[in-house]
Amino acid sequence: MRLTKKGLWGGIIREFRDFLPEIHDSAVTTLLEGNTPLIETVNLKDVFGDIRMLLKYEGLNPTGSFKDRGMTMAVSKAREEGAGAVICASTGNTSASASAYAARAGMRAYVLVPEGSVAMGKLSQAMMHGALVLQIKGNFDDALNIVKEITKDYPVKMVNSINPYRIEGQKTAAFEICEHLGHAPTYHFLPVGNAGNITAYWRGYREYEKEGIISNLPKMMGFQAEGAAPIVLGHPVENPQTIATAIKIGNPASWDSAVKARDESGGVIDSVTDDEIIEAYRLLASREGVFCEPASAASLAGAMKMKREGVLADGDTVVCTLTGHGLKDPDMAIKASAKPVKVPADVKKILKAMGL
Ligand SMILES: *Cc1c(COP(=O)(O)O)cnc(C)c1O
Repeated sequence: MRLTKKGLWGGIIREFRDFLPEIHDSAVTTLLEGNTPLIETVNLKDVFGDIRMLLKYEGLNPTGSFKDRGMTMAVSKAREEGAGAVICASTGNTSASASAYAARAGMRAYVLVPEGSVAMGKLSQAMMHGALVLQIKGNFDDALNIVKEITKDYPVKMVNSINPYRIEGQKTAAFEICEHLGHAPTYHFLPVGNAGNITAYWRGYREYEKEGIISNLPKMMGFQAEGAAPIVLGHPVENPQTIATAIKIGNPASWDSAVKARDESGGVIDSVTDDEIIEAYRLLASREGVFCEPASAASLAGAMKMKREGVLADGDTVVCTLTGHGLKDPDMAIKASAKPVKVPADVKKILKAMGL
């Protein structure tokens, strides 16, 4: 891997400079994002048989989601262009990331979030990093439309994934997977919300193939939540519903490029139910020791569905991107788990509760 050359990881802009738009060194704003682990599963043989299943654990980025890869690019570019403030609409993680990188750059951050639909961990991050948090009575799609409107007339830089630098930064996760494996996986599964990430990974794989660093390309497998599945249905969803708030989006900004990634790679964009998402979410935490947020588990839920349907075969190498950390949404974790057992501070009673 690249880090062995220099000894220490320098963040995605410095590590993948040859593949990214140029940025003046003095503008680079980094929290040393990227270089996340690709964890091979060891306890899911009953589910996946002899499929090699790996987890790209993006929850280990500085603010706990993959959004940091795109945000280091978007904020660095905004800084280079002399912007004093950034703005985004967010289901939570974009606002957490934008707020942190803006703080680092000495810039103001404005974040628009749908009231009542943002997980507590994410909201607390934006607040702690000093953003102006604007909770709107509306959904993510409404918030994004307002942000588009505002940035037309005011000198505030939009850092949603329609900002082209976001996608550029996010494609580096595909580079890391190729360098780790020495090739691309057979299938790459990921959750799809605004569809920027599936677009970014496909671009990353394609660029490494063009450079001759890899010789195969993965099939891109995107999964939406059943109640928020516009691409699967073929039309926008007016009032998207899912417990996976990070992908509760009815009209994805990168719709066309997601469809292109699917079709060019010979992949699939499909949906999974909230129950399937929760099942995968619990399985990862309880069997593999990997805690991701509910939306992230849509990737594994999708892989489980494709395994059941006979799409995946023994010998395939499969990567699931786990987009965000489980601590982002403690309420959901507590809801999805067995309750703590209340016991008196007494050895005998505790032993009894332990079944000993
Ligand atoms: C943003 C986000 C997604 C969706 O990614 P898109 O690029 O919008 O498709 C999925 N999971 C988590 C945790 C996210 O923060």
